[in-house]
Amino acid sequence: MCGIVGYIGFKEAFPILLKGLKRLEYRGYDSSGVVLLEEETLQLFKKKGKVKELEQFVEGEQLAGNIGIGHTRWATHGVPNDLNAHPHLSFDGNMAMIHNGIIENYANLKQILVDNGFEFKSETDTEVLLNYIQFLKNKDLLSLEMALQQALQQVKGTYCILLLSVDEPNVLFAARKGSPLVIGIGKNEFFLASDATPLLGYTNEVFYPNNEEIIILRRHDYQVINFNGEQVTPVIQELLMEEKAIEKGGFDHYMLKEMYEQPESFTNCLRGRIQLDTGTLIKTEDIRSWVSLFQKAPRIIIVSCGSSWHAGLLGEYWIEELARIPVEVEYASEFRYRNPIIYPGDIVLAISQSGETADTLVALEKAKDQGALIFSIVNVVGSSIPRMSDAYAYTHSGPEIGVASTKTFLGQLGVLMLLAMSIAEEKNSISSERIMTLGKEMIRLPHLIEEVLKQHDHIKSVVKSYTSATDVLFLGRGYNFPIALEGALKLKEISYIHAEGYPAAEMKHGPIALVDEHLPVVFLATKDNCYEKIISNIQEIKARGGKIIALATEGDQIVPALAKDTFFLPETDELLAPFLNVIVLQLFSYEMGIQKGLDVDQPRNLAKSVTVE
Ligand code: GLU
Repeated sequence: MCGIVGYIGFKEAFPILLKGLKRLEYRGYDSSGVVLLEEETLQLFKKKGKVKELEQFVEGEQLAGNIGIGHTRWATHGVPNDLNAHPHLSFDGNMAMIHNGIIENYANLKQILVDNGFEFKSETDTEVLLNYIQFLKNKDLLSLEMALQQALQQVKGTYCILLLSVDEPNVLFAARKGSPLVIGIGKNEFFLASDATPLLGYTNEVFYPNNEEIIILRRHDYQVINFNGEQVTPVIQELLMEEKAIEKGGFDHYMLKEMYEQPESFTNCLRGRIQLDTGTLIKTEDIRSWVSLFQKAPRIIIVSCGSSWHAGLLGEYWIEELARIPVEVEYASEFRYRNPIIYPGDIVLAISQSGETADTLVALEKAKDQGALIFSIVNVVGSSIPRMSDAYAYTHSGPEIGVASTKTFLGQLGVLMLLAMSIAEEKNSISSERIMTLGKEMIRLPHLIEEVLKQHDHIKSVVKSYTSATDVLFLGRGYNFPIALEGALKLKEISYIHAEGYPAAEMKHGPIALVDEHLPVVFLATKDNCYEKIISNIQEIKARGGKIIALATEGDQIVPALAKDTFFLPETDELLAPFLNVIVLQLFSYEMGIQKGLDVDQPRNLAKSVTVE
């Protein structure tokens, strides 16, 4: 997880690092720290807690230096405290390093170091790797570059590291395997970060180092080598992202801003893929060029985690319904450690907001080794997952800073639905009239989402009666079942209230035992082919005293009569109702978190981009 940032040039490094850390804080906020390299001296400042704690901690300090590295941590090895915060210094005090990832064989390396007299200040795997570099350098009288190469050849795990040394006071070293890194090229200066947001406003010329590459940066030039010391020529790209896209824009929280951006972000997801006036599918390169391939696929296996997994589940329902291809949905973390059967021609479809999700990345590598074709749906342009995919489609949701996914979840659904429609059109598995109806309704969605967002005040007042709940159930059937799961996950993340999502009819097989007069039960009961069935399920809960909160279609009178509180949704095609229902559940969780006084943008223990397993 964690965010890393680096600078080498002629400007003061600290303000650039601090601004970068604030932008990367969504990646982890257990602690943060910086090291500045000035006149062959390393100045270290680090502090438990969020970046603002670090900012207060350094007040009044001399923060000179135009080379520096900074880190915001999501702890994997060692509790969040000042000592475990990055950067770490080597045992001899001559080197400083920050790290994103996990060194899996750190215990073996640590034993070698302990046997050789090294002592450690922290419990982190990072400090072990740093000292191992120092150990090899001193033992074999190696240059830092050679020591780095040799150490990284022996390391198991994932990492992006930035390294400074007083012995090479005009160089910034970086290396990566698994964890992300982007390097911005300025005039006699370089900017390094886990994603491109800290670079905005400084440069738009960037490159993304590949796995197992070392980057050696001096003010006037840079060099990229692989772990065998061979030169590599990076591909320089233009960064297409605007600074205003990552600011709060007058909203109290990023999550709120991102929920309200959904009419626009969803339109951006559709743009170029469907005619925005007629709803006709466009033959785009990213989706349609793969349609012929999907068409022949015996099977699609969707691998993802968290909210992306819920999107995948809905993808299964849609693809099977419209395109008639068998789909399986797997948790990436399970898939990677079992022995799944993959047939030639199978398509493994990955869904990941960040494009860096560690479990998904490894699951894809495994599937690729077994001959699967990889298609990915990702938000962050240029991230690792699309780079290792045979083809990909971006959600085009824009940067999402709030830890809970909102607009990117909607974007994932958008791409999945377009994909299902496109394959169906190619295969003639549904009528062209049906595709046309769906297309027309898809382009109406941004407007309908706006209508749903207008219910915010109503949702806010309803939530007041439920803030003391300790558990909440979310029930849905058919296309609304994955949204029930997503609603429960959102509530857990944002309000720390225990919540479960269930297929409504499964209630009777156990969870109904939980129902009493204290339990709020959210029913996704908009009109679809399960409508009558779900009314029976509502009756069953009501008979046992549960407090019913319902999502119902405008004009419906039956469901509201059974519910204590109702949120009305505009009528739409039953396949597309999830696009609207999820917005209500996002607002519900947001208001629950706010009314409980919680930090909705950075909930405890979480991080935005899960780059550790
Ligand atoms: N494994 C390192 C630690 O626990 C880095 C974790 C991260 O990626 O933030 O400090």
